[in-house]
Amino acid sequence: MVTIRGTLENCTITLHPVAAQKVPPNTWAFLFGHEFAHLVESLGTHSATNPANDLKADIAGARYAMAAGYRIEAFLGWVLTEPDKQTDSHGSLEKRVKAISAHFGVPQSAVQGEARRASNYRAAR
Ligand SMILES: [Zn+2]
Repeated sequence: MVTIRGTLENCTITLHPVAAQKVPPNTWAFLFGHEFAHLVESLGTHSATNPANDLKADIAGARYAMAAGYRIEAFLGWVLTEPDKQTDSHGSLEKRVKAISAHFGVPQSAVQGEARRASNYRAAR
């Protein structure tokens, strides 16, 4: 949905045009954070990653977004309403949500509540 190419000094950010209309601002903060984390934390590119490095990008990126005031539980709830595609490079979305919420001590009940709100948000678009 978002790709960042190039170096920190000269990078190009590309948003998926359909997603740009449908994804809430809180979610973008975490998606941008994740992609910037790949760049600044030397975690390789998002497309050529592995589940361990991608989780590091999730956690570092979430720290940036939370420092800017965005809500991790709302982001994780939104992720749970995505189809749970499993890939070799990224693992399962549901496992990632569990690992990220455990890392930051976010209760599962809070994530589930936000997932219900995210479903309603999607239904209204
Ligand atoms: Zn990644």
